[in-house]
Amino acid sequence: MTAQTVQQGDLVTVIGLEVHVQLETDTKIFCGCSTAQTDEPNENVCPVCLGLPGALPVLNEEAVEAAVKVGKAIDAHIPEETRFHRKNYYYPDLPKNFQITQYDEPICQDGELEVSVEGSRRTITIERAHLEEDPGSLQHVGGGIDTADYTRVDYNRAGTPLMEIVTAPDFRSPDEVRAFLAELSEVLEYLGVFDAERDGSLRIDANLSIIPEADIDGEDTDEIGTEALEAANRTEVKNISSHKGAEKALAYEETRQKNAIRRGRAVEQETRHWDEARGITVSMRSKEAEKDYRYFEEADLPPLRVSHWKDEISIPELPSARRERFQAEYGLSEEAASKLTSTKQVADFYEDVAREFDPDLAATWVADELLGELNYRDMDITDLEGRLEEVARLVELVAKEEITAKNAKEVVLRTMLDEGDAPDNIVEAEGLGKTDEDEVQQAVVDAIDENPDAVSDFHEGENGAINFLVGQVMQKTGGSADPGDVNQLLRAELEG
Ligand code: ADP
Ligand code: ZN
Ligand code: MG
Repeated sequence: MTAQTVQQGDLVTVIGLEVHVQLETDTKIFCGCSTAQTDEPNENVCPVCLGLPGALPVLNEEAVEAAVKVGKAIDAHIPEETRFHRKNYYYPDLPKNFQITQYDEPICQDGELEVSVEGSRRTITIERAHLEEDPGSLQHVGGGIDTADYTRVDYNRAGTPLMEIVTAPDFRSPDEVRAFLAELSEVLEYLGVFDAERDGSLRIDANLSIIPEADIDGEDTDEIGTEALEAANRTEVKNISSHKGAEKALAYEETRQKNAIRRGRAVEQETRHWDEARGITVSMRSKEAEKDYRYFEEADLPPLRVSHWKDEISIPELPSARRERFQAEYGLSEEAASKLTSTKQVADFYEDVAREFDPDLAATWVADELLGELNYRDMDITDLEGRLEEVARLVELVAKEEITAKNAKEVVLRTMLDEGDAPDNIVEAEGLGKTDEDEVQQAVVDAIDENPDAVSDFHEGENGAINFLVGQVMQKTGGSADPGDVNQLLRAELEG
């Protein structure tokens, strides 16, 4: 990690995150209700997640397994025993008036995640990652949170398992935050515990303060002492739901606080709301202190012994390890390896194709052509479920030189994505099968016979003439010849 040096009068930005991720489980964390998304409000509910008197929670094993996987992936300490607490507050989305969460014995402690920001590596400490239940969701009708005519509440989401991942105040810029969130979602997706596409599956509270250079002991902005961190007034920005949103909200907040300090005004310690539509943060309330929540132990759930789970649960190779292996094993550039490990499905598919055909050809086809065309259509690899065989077949057609790369991309791949056809059908229907050599040779001879003017232009050294003749041959062969080969054949014929 490269240490930044503090200049006289500098203001250093300090950011820490509390990231809430929904864990992908079939049922809720303390009851058997489905977590499936549905358009019907208040459909997946029962006495437990509605907080009816006398209903008792039962911990979902799948949620604990997912949490242990996260802990292993971030290299966290998983204690012998973990327990649950009640965090008390009143809010319409929380019918029990308390949230079951974890307090002093979270399931994951002292982890870390390494991210790469513009070529330099940063290690972000993850202080804790704990399990809790998601509240319900509010729908404001006729306005925003502060202007709505009325608000509806939907408890379908209430009780969805959440992990709250709390980082140390290790970030020094909004773009580091964005890189971290990208890496974190990749890791969670690799673990199979998280669906980034799901609405609201990632929600971020971002804490930001500005610390004047004069308050930092020493030169290194990575090593700001606890005293300076605690002395700084920070704001907590809520309602951020995407990587981009986090970067934008924090950039706004950074500028707002720096301007205040430069004008000699104090920054209030407060909770602010990110207004995505307006691109600004607005003051919500002064920040609650921990004592406001009156944490106490959840007596309806016994302490959970997790020590033996650590050994029984295994996790797959993670994106960073896979990125490095792809570079070493297949000779890929860092950029290509990053693209090809962006999701587990992409990486698995790349490896299948690379092993069967050629790693370089596979890299071009998966990283550039396939991902490029998918991206252009606002699709991703999950939209090709059950059809990856067909994409592999297309690469095979190119590898065996049965069709030209140009046709494979511009006709076959695009038709596959737009119309849903299989590659062999498209090749057949469009007559793209590479013409055999005799036929191309015949077309070369014909083109020369039929275009004496172009031939004499060629002999007089006019550059365009050969391209014109190549075009003629391509036309005669229905575009199925390789233009490079045609060029060579023509030259051989004309110069021979
Ligand atoms: P609280 O008890 O107020 O929730 P925590 O110590 O638990 O405070 O920290 C909450 C979040 O605030 C963490 O993500 C942490 O990294 C971040 N944080 C702590 N100090 C600062 C600071 N000076 N500037 C920005 N973020 C901070
Ligand atoms: Zn329920
Ligand atoms: Mg806290």
